[in-house]
Amino acid sequence: MSDSQVITFGCRLNTYESQVIKDLLIQKDVTGTIVVNTCAVTSEAERQARQSIRKLRRDNPTARIIVTGCSAQINPGQYAAMPEVSQILGNTEKMKLESYATGTERVVVTDIMEIKETAGHLVAGFEGKARAFVQVQNGCDHRCTFCTIPYGRGNSRSVAIGEIVNQIRVLAESGYQEIVFTGVDITAYGADLPGSPTLGQMIRRVFALVPELKRLRLSSLDPVEMDEDLWTLIAQEPRLMPHLHLSLQAGDNLILKRMKRRHLREDVIQFCNRAKALRPDVAFGADLIAGFPTETDAMFLNTLNIIEECDLTYLHVFPYSPRPGTPASRMPQVKRAMIKERAAVLREAGDKALHRFLNAWVGKQTNVLVESDTHGKTDHFAPVQFEQKTTAKPGSVIPVVLKETTPQHLIGIVP
Ligand code: SF4
Repeated sequence: MSDSQVITFGCRLNTYESQVIKDLLIQKDVTGTIVVNTCAVTSEAERQARQSIRKLRRDNPTARIIVTGCSAQINPGQYAAMPEVSQILGNTEKMKLESYATGTERVVVTDIMEIKETAGHLVAGFEGKARAFVQVQNGCDHRCTFCTIPYGRGNSRSVAIGEIVNQIRVLAESGYQEIVFTGVDITAYGADLPGSPTLGQMIRRVFALVPELKRLRLSSLDPVEMDEDLWTLIAQEPRLMPHLHLSLQAGDNLILKRMKRRHLREDVIQFCNRAKALRPDVAFGADLIAGFPTETDAMFLNTLNIIEECDLTYLHVFPYSPRPGTPASRMPQVKRAMIKERAAVLREAGDKALHRFLNAWVGKQTNVLVESDTHGKTDHFAPVQFEQKTTAKPGSVIPVVLKETTPQHLIGIVP
């Protein structure tokens, strides 16, 4: 095997970091190496990583297999016990050039809670991606009772505005029209920086300093950590995409309390009403957990009902997965079958909501970011399939007439 490769699991932040790792491997001329960048959000994500590692070893008997990412950071021992694995790197080490030198220790994982700064890297582009990801924040200061992310990512730390501006300029020069700001808890942006700039103030500054930035999309938002500048941008800045993804998790107040979330269902409804008042065409996405410990039928109904009450369109439904060492894993658990059943009910409601949303666009013309010669996404992140293959190159933005819809996507004509 001549070329090295990076296998990515999990979130957009991992996607960004995997690109940095690819660049480091090229810079260090590392060959015959496979890096597996893992995720620890669910036990299923970890099972898939282990399965993938075993297959990679069978297919590449002589390769150097390096495992990193949140699952390796939180529990390096599980990978050290796998004979298929050559080396385990922590989330800090994976971003360092010297970590890929040969002859280093098999397990190099330092205490992520010690990390105070984000590692500045300039990425010129993302292989095979129509949009680019920019890390603006990492880590999390919250301790939701179901979540292991802080133990994989450490405490919250922000990227300086100057570095973000430089990164976007490089990507805009490479032709990227859409940038996605990513992190773990981006609404916590700036609390650790001099003058404590908020996320909204940072974005306003970025738009002022980088006129070549055409489209900005935000990853998950904490509904009670919004700042006034961000609300103003939602109302007035056309370059900020009208698509807000909420880290919601549940729609029942007692469950939200037991999750140690900072919002109540009333806060989320108020958030969505305010966003709709400021930007009537805004589309909402949300993460929802099905079957959190102690969840009764009545509590689940509150979560199901919030989909329509907030006009949520894009649902990421997670069947509750007990994570070792978390407080929720020690609470009375909901039966597995019930968790699966509730997840299916939420997904079905999500499919209906998506179809309702897509239907409202039939007959209209809108901008679409081209992702391939057959597919793209609108400003509102609606998936569009082109009726005829397009010659427009991935990453370009084209006008499309939305002709009809299927339950999963719109069918569009490129005029
Ligand atoms: S806010 Fe909560 S769910 Fe999100 S990363 Fe932090 S601890 Fe996890």
